[in-house]
Amino acid sequence: MASEIRLEVAVPCPLRNLFSYKASADLGVEPGCWVEVPFGRRRVTGLVLAQVDPAGDTNPAFELKEIFAKAEQLRPLDTATLELIQWSIRYYHVAPWDIVSNMVPLSLLQRQPGGEKFWVASTGFSPDLLSRARRRRELLLWMQAREAVSDSQISAAGFSPTLRRELVKQGLVSEATAAPGFAPQKQLPSTHLPQLTREQHEAVDAVALGREQVYLLQGPTGSGKTEVYMAVAKAAIAAGRQVLLLVPEIGLTPQMEKRIRQSLPARIATYHSEASDADRRDIWQAFGDGNIDLVIGTRSAIFLPAPRLGLIVLDEEQDVSYKQQEGWRYHARHIAALRARQCQAPLVLGSATPSLESLFHLERGRYIPLQLTQRHGQGAMPIWQIEPLSPQSKSLLSQASLEAIEMALQGGNQVMVFINRRGFAPAYECQACRWVANCPNCSCRLTAHLQHHQLLCHQCQFARPIPNRCDQCHSQRLQMLGAGTERLENFLQQRFAAWPALRVDRDSTRQRGKRQQLMEQAAQGQAGILVGTQMLAKGHHFPGVTLVVVLGIDQGLLSADPWAMEQTAQLCIQVAGRAGRGKLAGRAILETGLPEHPVLLQLTSAGYQATARELLRQRRTGHLPPFSYWALLRVEHQDFRTCEQVLQQVVDALQASRSPEVSLLGPMPCLLERRGDRYRYQLLIQSSLRSRLHEVTDKALQLLEQFGAKRRLRWSVDVDPLGMD
Ligand code: ADP
Ligand code: ZN
Ligand code: ZN
Repeated sequence: MASEIRLEVAVPCPLRNLFSYKASADLGVEPGCWVEVPFGRRRVTGLVLAQVDPAGDTNPAFELKEIFAKAEQLRPLDTATLELIQWSIRYYHVAPWDIVSNMVPLSLLQRQPGGEKFWVASTGFSPDLLSRARRRRELLLWMQAREAVSDSQISAAGFSPTLRRELVKQGLVSEATAAPGFAPQKQLPSTHLPQLTREQHEAVDAVALGREQVYLLQGPTGSGKTEVYMAVAKAAIAAGRQVLLLVPEIGLTPQMEKRIRQSLPARIATYHSEASDADRRDIWQAFGDGNIDLVIGTRSAIFLPAPRLGLIVLDEEQDVSYKQQEGWRYHARHIAALRARQCQAPLVLGSATPSLESLFHLERGRYIPLQLTQRHGQGAMPIWQIEPLSPQSKSLLSQASLEAIEMALQGGNQVMVFINRRGFAPAYECQACRWVANCPNCSCRLTAHLQHHQLLCHQCQFARPIPNRCDQCHSQRLQMLGAGTERLENFLQQRFAAWPALRVDRDSTRQRGKRQQLMEQAAQGQAGILVGTQMLAKGHHFPGVTLVVVLGIDQGLLSADPWAMEQTAQLCIQVAGRAGRGKLAGRAILETGLPEHPVLLQLTSAGYQATARELLRQRRTGHLPPFSYWALLRVEHQDFRTCEQVLQQVVDALQASRSPEVSLLGPMPCLLERRGDRYRYQLLIQSSLRSRLHEVTDKALQLLEQFGAKRRLRWSVDVDPLGMD
């Protein structure tokens, strides 16, 4: 009889433990392999994370179930990915399958056996047939120049396999009868990287390929950071290595892709959560096979396996979208640092407004600073103006802003009005009895959206038609309070009727491709007004903008969230950075009810660096991260008493065995106390020692599982939180 081994397997379920199975040793199942196992009454595919030698098995009497089979058709994960999963389980304390399903595109698991299909283009047709379908035409041309190609090669060349499927439907491409001995061909477009400035050269030269080191590239918007990324990437690719370039948002990938394609002779692909399952699977495999040189992607691209990874770049490294805000709350910057260590590669973080965390590491000498100071093709940094808002004012915008807008438009320039709030008005109120329309499920107000004649909850998506009588006193004297993007757009459109107003927010860009279209329209620089949320503030060049007006930042300045101030300061600088044209400095007006706020004064007079240093000092005094380590336990239940009781039980049990380096804060209600008909409570675990934080968090979760099990309590854990919503 063949000897048996014991396997530790991650299976699709929300539990935080691995499951043990036995398997015959001659199946050759190793960590990283996929296996078919019995789980409850089901047959599921799981991932083997470890193998235990039966001789050292501490629990041999336990009757283990046997695996059904090794999933031969599924490619095993590489060691680096496996290591990352194991590390993440320990660090983030979430269920192993949460991690596996975030790292690995699960479409990989639905893969048909029998390997890849190959496709050939018919040469009988002229690509001119497709004159109106540009990308399909390009793909057809590309395929006609080759023998059979697979979908992974197609995506490696930058085409979506969806295009290939369309060509098959049209009969222009068909499946090849035999796989060719194919070596993917490098397409070499003409390259034109600009002559780098001395500063840029110094930055590029400072990055040592082949060594684990984090660099923080600081430079205002338009200072040429992207050119530095491209030059370093080019060097890495020339040295035979692969590159991961992360951008915070899917909307930024096409722009970046276009620039990089124009200047790098490489096999490039883009990867983000909105790509189709098939595309993601193909890129996962092609990058993992080393058939793609560079991937531009959002957060989840950080998990792409790569046999020759030689450089990771995170653009706008301070952006909070690098942190996943549900389920497994990982931070892509953190994962990037681990991967850089694994493969002895540099990690380049770039920003005009670095996170306090990165500045902290810089101060401690852990990161190497790279600095760009000049702005190319854009003017000097904008001139700030703080405009006090009087509480009595009924106008949506101050007189000063209106005059400045008028002047800019008359001069043939663009104006950007920024407010981080979509919809028409954030509150709907009865003037007779002061009733305010609240969400029935959440502790927040409903936002009025005139476009859809609805009051909408931005937390739980509850919607109701806008009532014309007060719910409470039936008065008809109802009013909209405050403004969001929709109201500003209406107002500005009426006030400056001779110029177009363009709104860019989640509502106006819901349609596919709409966002890109709006951005392109905006970038053409025709005089007019752009109204938008932070969607407008990120990474886009609008060369025609000379004036930026920023509204609605007071909330961020007053918030109890320890991260709100940092994020508000970053946002102000980022938005203001959109102004400026040619050699002329732009103007940025901050409308605020807190004109004397020290952070605003410092930000506008001394700049981001000085402000960030001051904010860091405050964090040190307050023992806030990064000067202490935090984990946040959140629980949710329909009854707030259950939330409180269970967390209190956890606290009591932890206090009994408390260690001096750990402090507990809570239970306390979350800032948003109720959401989607559930109360939300939290417990903050703080420690000056990472190891103690992990021990206590682990203990706390075990207790939660124990006390919360029979009470239908939901809970989540957030290690290194970036906000306390
Ligand atoms: P950032 O990434 O810092 O916002 P970019 O790299 O996008 O800055 O540069 C801003 C603009 O300046 C781009 O249009 C870019 O092509 C141009 N640019 C940057 N560096 C140079 C250079 N050395 N020579 C000419 N143009 C440059
Ligand atoms: Zn009323
Ligand atoms: Zn709600």
